[in-house]
Amino acid sequence: MTQLAVDLPELERRSRPVLNLLAYDVIVICSSAGKDSIALLAYVAELIGVQGYRGRVVVLHNHLGTTASGEPVEWQNVAELAREHAAHYGFEFVVRTRPGGDLMEQLLGERRRWPANNARWCTSDQKEGPSMTWITEAVTEFWQQLGVPADRPVEVLYCLGLRGQESAGRAAQPIVQVNERRSSGNRRITRWLPIRDWTITDVWTMIKKSGLRAHAAYTWGMLRLSCSLCVLATAEDLMLAAALRPALAADYLAAEIELGERFTERLSMQEIVTALDAARREDLDDHHGAAEAALALYELVREHLASTPVARGEGVTASGRPRRPWTAQQLTGRATARTSELLSAARRAVTLAARADTSAPILPPLDDATAALLARASR
Ligand code: SF4
Repeated sequence: MTQLAVDLPELERRSRPVLNLLAYDVIVICSSAGKDSIALLAYVAELIGVQGYRGRVVVLHNHLGTTASGEPVEWQNVAELAREHAAHYGFEFVVRTRPGGDLMEQLLGERRRWPANNARWCTSDQKEGPSMTWITEAVTEFWQQLGVPADRPVEVLYCLGLRGQESAGRAAQPIVQVNERRSSGNRRITRWLPIRDWTITDVWTMIKKSGLRAHAAYTWGMLRLSCSLCVLATAEDLMLAAALRPALAADYLAAEIELGERFTERLSMQEIVTALDAARREDLDDHHGAAEAALALYELVREHLASTPVARGEGVTASGRPRRPWTAQQLTGRATARTSELLSAARRAVTLAARADTSAPILPPLDDATAALLARASR
C-alpha cells in the first residue's frame, strides 16, 4: 500500500504560530467545501479539541449563485458537502449569498467585466463582503450570547484555507494578522491562515485522517473546486470543467458574447467551446467536422494573437529596444502552436470527462492509496 509522507507533528510545526484559541469569542471557519477548506476545518477542529475551546464555532459557506438558465456556478452539492463537514464536528453552519446579486448577476448587471488576477472582485464582493456583513450582523448577538463585557471588542478569529503553493501572492500573506480595516470598536477580526505553508500532500493527509468526504471533481481530474469555471484556473482545468458541464460553458459563452470581452486574456470561452467541439468530433471519427472545428479554433486564436500589443509591435522589449511587429510567418507559427496546445487540452478533457462518474459527486472517506493518488494528481 502507498504510504503518505507527512505526519501530524510536522503539520503542526508548519502551522506556527499555533494560536491560543481561548483568546477568541467566536471562530469563523470559511469553507468552499474544497480540499483546502476541508484540511483547514479538520486542523482547526483538532486544535479546538486539544485546547478545550468551548466558544462559538461557525462554518461559513458563501454561495455564488447560478447562471440565468439556472446552472450553479459552483460544482454540484458543494453547500451540502460544507454542511456535512460542519455537522461532523457539531459546528454551526451558515450559508451566505451576496444580497445585491450573485456572481453572474453582478458580472452582467454591475461590473460588466470578468474578474481577473489583478481584479478579484469575485472574491472580495462575493465571499469576503458577505462574510463580513454576517459578522457585523452577528456581533450584537455574540455580545448577548457570549456575555462579552461592553468595555472590550468581540474577538473574532476568521480562518481561511489559503495556501502559499497556490500563488506567490498567497505565499506572501501573513499567517496571522488583525484585519484593521474590518475591525471596529465593537469587534476585532483576526485573519488566520494556519495551512498557508502546507503542501498538497499535507492537505490530502489531513483529509484522509479526518474521515471527511471530499468532492469527486478531484477524481474527475480537476485541481481546484469552488467556481467550476474560474478565471484563475489552468487551461486544463477550464477545458475539463467545460467538458463536464457543457450547459454552464454555454452560459459563460453567452456572457462573454454579451460583454464583448474575453473570459480571460489568455483563453476565451469561444476558444474553449470550439476546441472541445473539435476534440469531441475527433472522438466520434467525424474527421471532416473535427478539421472544420480545428480550423475555426486556429482562426480565433490567430485573430486574438494578432490584436495583442506584442504582435503589433507596441512598446519596448525587456532590453529597452522598440518592439517590432510580428511577421505573418511568426503570427502563423505562434497561432499554430497555441491551437495545438488547446487541442491537446481539449482531447485530454474529453477523455477524462468520458471516464468521470458524475452520478456520484461526493467521494467516500479516503483510504491511504486514494489520498496519495489525489496528492500526486494535484501537483
Ligand atoms: S473560484 Fe475563481 S472565479 Fe470563483 S470566486 Fe474564486 S477566484 Fe473568483
